[in-house]
Amino acid sequence: MLHVSYTLGDVADILAIDDEAVERYVDVLSAVSSSIENSNLERAVIELAPIADELWFGRFVRPARSPALDANTEIAKRAVSHQDRVNVFRRDCFLCLYCGKRTIPRCVLVAISDVFQDAFAYHPNYKRGALHPAFWLAPEADHVVAHARGGSSDPSNLVTLHAMCNLLKSDSPADDLPIIERPDRMVEWDGLLSKYAAIVAHGGGSQRAEYHRFWMRLYGVKPVA
Ligand SMILES: [Zn+2]
Repeated sequence: MLHVSYTLGDVADILAIDDEAVERYVDVLSAVSSSIENSNLERAVIELAPIADELWFGRFVRPARSPALDANTEIAKRAVSHQDRVNVFRRDCFLCLYCGKRTIPRCVLVAISDVFQDAFAYHPNYKRGALHPAFWLAPEADHVVAHARGGSSDPSNLVTLHAMCNLLKSDSPADDLPIIERPDRMVEWDGLLSKYAAIVAHGGGSQRAEYHRFWMRLYGVKPVA
């Protein structure tokens, strides 16, 4: 993977995300989240600056949802519930078991975008040129043994992968790529969920209030009173 960026005006167009960029995005967003939690938005702006205004122009495109999600289709059988996904992410300490690096749940990234709508852009369909590349660090639950080859959708057959690593893996000709070992319980990374409610509280608009209530409930996060 190659991290290429060039400047067009003052906007960085990002074409790829390498290991170093993954670490940088997570470090920056951790600092930004802490400052938002402490209601220090001026500091959060400064901390966000190194990655502010970046837009994704790479080749990853979010796969379209299948329109036919009816109970009798293979897709429905393959579907994993939101709660199962959340449980898999927690079990895996919010680490990607493909590259070993930290993930940040999409709802937390969306909450940060609610605070910094322009500098940290979000697009629900991951539209190229309208999304900050860090959204590719959101976790997804992927089948270890592919569903097409008889693998179940039970959490025991699911692992946490970055959205981008999930696409890289599915691009590969190999059926089963080696998944790294699950981390032991000593890993302390919560995907910034401890700051999620505070970030939502600073997001201002009620535009996504229902969306965030839904995810806070699933993650067991209490809204800020
Ligand atoms: Zn990964």
